[in-house]
Amino acid sequence: MRNEEKVNSALKLAIVLPCFNEYESLGLAVSELYALLVEMADMGVLCRTSFLFFVDDGSTDETWSALVRLNEENSAIKGLKLSRNFGHQAALLAGLSAVTGLCDAAVSIDADLQQDPLAIKNFLDEFRKGADIVLGVRNDRDTDGWLKKLTASAFYSLMKTMGVNITPNHADYRLLSKRALDALALFPEPNNFLRATCHLLGYKISTVHFDVKERKFGQTKYTIKKMVKLALHGITSFSIIPLRMVASIGFLLFVCSMIMLLYALWQTLFVGTTVPGWASTIIPIYFIGGIQLICLGVVSEYIGQIYSTVKNRPRWICEDKLE
Ligand code: UDP
Ligand code: MG
Repeated sequence: MRNEEKVNSALKLAIVLPCFNEYESLGLAVSELYALLVEMADMGVLCRTSFLFFVDDGSTDETWSALVRLNEENSAIKGLKLSRNFGHQAALLAGLSAVTGLCDAAVSIDADLQQDPLAIKNFLDEFRKGADIVLGVRNDRDTDGWLKKLTASAFYSLMKTMGVNITPNHADYRLLSKRALDALALFPEPNNFLRATCHLLGYKISTVHFDVKERKFGQTKYTIKKMVKLALHGITSFSIIPLRMVASIGFLLFVCSMIMLLYALWQTLFVGTTVPGWASTIIPIYFIGGIQLICLGVVSEYIGQIYSTVKNRPRWICEDKLE
């Protein structure tokens, strides 16, 4: 879609919502987002065929049956059911891939509606001004607990140190144009870390700030385990700096051991005062053993990435669909 067309014509928007056990949040998400679609259609910004697309990421509650009901009442509510819990990133990608070719732009947002949905209006303004990717950036972290704040800031500094290009405080609330969606389909990697992939597409990126509200229903579905997994995938699929660090540590230890070797030779051949010592034997063993295990762990993460890429298993499996 060319720029003049973006300004003059009503757009077909898809709003993609990954959900895992979000039965309680569905009512709010549908009423607020559908009202927004209708309001923007009345204003002539969106066309009336714009729709909400829910991805049920293997929920064990009533999420899917509620979506089936909502779809029967309103054809603007569509969705996809994954055969099991594939994780937020996979669910999001499944949704984006399902709406590719069916809309002029897609916005992804969490089903708990913690992210202010009104920011979608600003996303569309940026889209009309020519941006293909609009990233929602949260204004503050007041609604997060201390652990989430700490892990989030550690995550962004780690990503920066590792040379991964991501926008701080942007999660997965974003708009992607039709051509950005098409480009995203060219990244078939198993652990696609969308926040960084967006920066690889090369299309114009814009940002919009928004407020985050408290979760109204249920609890966070992002456990610490899921957050650590996401961070590890983010680093290992976008940076080889940890591997370089391993090589540097190896080199440093080699230099140290050469110095120790020369020292030992000197003591034996010229000084002759070699005293067998327990501490000086055991400390380097623990130290070097520990470093070797850490290095092995880093290398294993990358081998794990290669392993899952080579197996080329499906990133998600669709069990049911609501058209
Ligand atoms: N989610 C998902 N699969 C998962 C975990 C989470 O689809 O395995 C969805 C969840 O239903 C929500 C979004 O991802 O719509 C963000 O999760 P959540 O709100 O729990 O994360 P938080 O806001 O606490 O970081
Ligand atoms: Mg949330």
